[in-house]
Amino acid sequence: MKPIEIHQFPCLQDNYGYLVHDADAGVTAAIDTPDATAILAALDERGWRLTHILNTHHHSDHAGGNLELKKRTGCRIVGPRADAARIPGIDEQVGDGDAFELGTHRVEVFDTPGHTRGHIVYFLPGDDVAFVGDTLFAMGCGRLFEGTPAQMWSSLQKILRWPERTRLYCAHEYTQSNGRFALTVEPGNGALVERMAEVARVRAAGKPTVPTTLALEKATNPFLRPASAGLQATIGLTGASEVEVFAKTRALKDAF
Ligand code: ZN
Ligand code: FE
Repeated sequence: MKPIEIHQFPCLQDNYGYLVHDADAGVTAAIDTPDATAILAALDERGWRLTHILNTHHHSDHAGGNLELKKRTGCRIVGPRADAARIPGIDEQVGDGDAFELGTHRVEVFDTPGHTRGHIVYFLPGDDVAFVGDTLFAMGCGRLFEGTPAQMWSSLQKILRWPERTRLYCAHEYTQSNGRFALTVEPGNGALVERMAEVARVRAAGKPTVPTTLALEKATNPFLRPASAGLQATIGLTGASEVEVFAKTRALKDAF
């Protein structure tokens, strides 16, 4: 099996658009639809025909282009069962434990409520790739608009069970500002300090910091590190439970 092709391009203010292409099967999926015009231009440039949209959640910078793209291409829209009523044009509802084939590539679905109550992520185990929407960001995680810290922490734990080599494609370029916050709660984390220097170089060159890897996030993302003694000490929660540490970290970030 050939590795799946992924075309990444900036959309709107700080979103990323993704086209996932299986040439042998003639299948092309857009991961979310931040901007129909930009997605159509990317399809055109590649000479790819859109066959699917895979939505992670209902926010307009993720599903706002659904109807336009469906009208123009006749593509099939896959999205979260738990939020089907808020996904424009949805054809197929999926949720935790579901799996399907995208061309010749297996896609596994995980419910990750927290940012929204119906958020899902897509994991391609044969490609070591995952599309995590607004659940996990490089050195950050999604804001809790519709979920509790306990829900989000359990969602993130599902991601933590994937292989460390998994490349994580998140939906926004928030890395540098996330990292600035991360340094305030884990100033003694050498891997984090090192990563921020690298991120500064990459951004200065105008390049994306996404995708990241699960290994790098485990080492530097405070929202995946509630067991870190340094983090616990900085936020005054030494010995507290993981969900308590996660909740306080998220609250501090909201006020940062
Ligand atoms: Zn969102
Ligand atoms: Fe978003």
